[in-house]
Amino acid sequence: MVKGMARHAERLNGIPATIFTKMSALAVRTGAVNLGQGFPDADGPPAVVEAAVRALRNGANQYAPGIGTPDLRAAIAAHQQRHYGIALDPDHEVVVTTGATEGIAAALLGLVNPGDEVIVLEPYYDSYLAMIRMAGGVRRPVTLRAPDFRLDEEALRASVNAHTKVMLINSPHNPTGSVLTREELQIIADIAIEHDLVVITDEVYEHLTFDGAQHIPLATLPGMFERTLTLSSAGKMFSFTGWKIGWASGPSELVDAVLGAKQWLSFSSGSPLQPAIAHALDHEAGFYDELATSLKEQRDQLCAGLAELDVDVRVPEGTYFVTTDVRRLGWADGMEFCLALPERAGVVAIPAQAFYDDLDEGRHMVRWAFCKDPALIADGLARLQGADLRA
Ligand code: PMP
Ligand code: GLN
Repeated sequence: MVKGMARHAERLNGIPATIFTKMSALAVRTGAVNLGQGFPDADGPPAVVEAAVRALRNGANQYAPGIGTPDLRAAIAAHQQRHYGIALDPDHEVVVTTGATEGIAAALLGLVNPGDEVIVLEPYYDSYLAMIRMAGGVRRPVTLRAPDFRLDEEALRASVNAHTKVMLINSPHNPTGSVLTREELQIIADIAIEHDLVVITDEVYEHLTFDGAQHIPLATLPGMFERTLTLSSAGKMFSFTGWKIGWASGPSELVDAVLGAKQWLSFSSGSPLQPAIAHALDHEAGFYDELATSLKEQRDQLCAGLAELDVDVRVPEGTYFVTTDVRRLGWADGMEFCLALPERAGVVAIPAQAFYDDLDEGRHMVRWAFCKDPALIADGLARLQGADLRA
């Protein structure tokens, strides 16, 4: 054992290093085209950057209130009202987090007791695994099965037991690109109400849907607001992933649980960035509509190129991602495929097995990101098409 490893707390056992760090480092080291980690090539609106610069120059440089600045909380509440008709009290039903990542962490630390079970949709975002474990909880995956990646009502019902405390769902869904329909959300709502569960819903890709797929916040279903904690992030909404400004909203009881944990994680989130994101929410709604339009074109470009490679492609309804099955290329293991890819083709993708317990479903799945410059996608596809990708 490496000397340092012996000093790790037991709570880190069984939590792998995040696959995103590993694969982005591989891209940098090999000079490969990075179609792996989901960050956009193009920054968000210049006016929002200017608002942050103004805030920096005008003295927004000391701690913000832990719950978030009043202007940002008001803008988040106004956004939920405007888009979804959800009425929030910005003083008690909204908390600003350091990215949705902290929202996930604080929600799980604030709501899950040791031994509580947490249902997650599989493939699951990797921080869910880490934070359920750090909270002492037990994850109970319900698989969205290829090729359609739809919710399986029977499997969801079968996963609930006396220890279930929370369902943690994600729509639009990373990495499959599925957007849960009203019928699927109603199944989740019925089960949550029947078993008195809390639902944490990760909606960071809420505005990034295509072809008329409609994002419906779970909190808008009858009887659900009072048991639903909704997470989102300016990273995805405004293409500022490095700013790490996110938020949680819902009934004060659930928001208090997030704040109770968040105050000991980061205490508060970046002061000069909060007024800038408030400005973005109030004035830059056009940005995410245009982003969704350009992402759709990039999705079509990437999916068409991947389809020529003899991999199974299911065109996603939302997010930055398309997930493919690489078995027709002769690869049983997507991790081996992804580790060979930089040398074979000069491209990096993400082995989606990192997001599965059920390896029979996930071992051969590979995720590709299309939140990239079309010229970069074209370069990546040309490299893939010119390479020998057979196992
Ligand atoms: N949830 C999902 C589903 C994600 O894909 C991501 C990554 N952006 C996050 C949460 C984390 O969001 P943030 O970057 O705001 O911490
Ligand atoms: N959410 C991004 C993705 O899925 C990456 C975020 C991260 O690296 N933690 O690729």
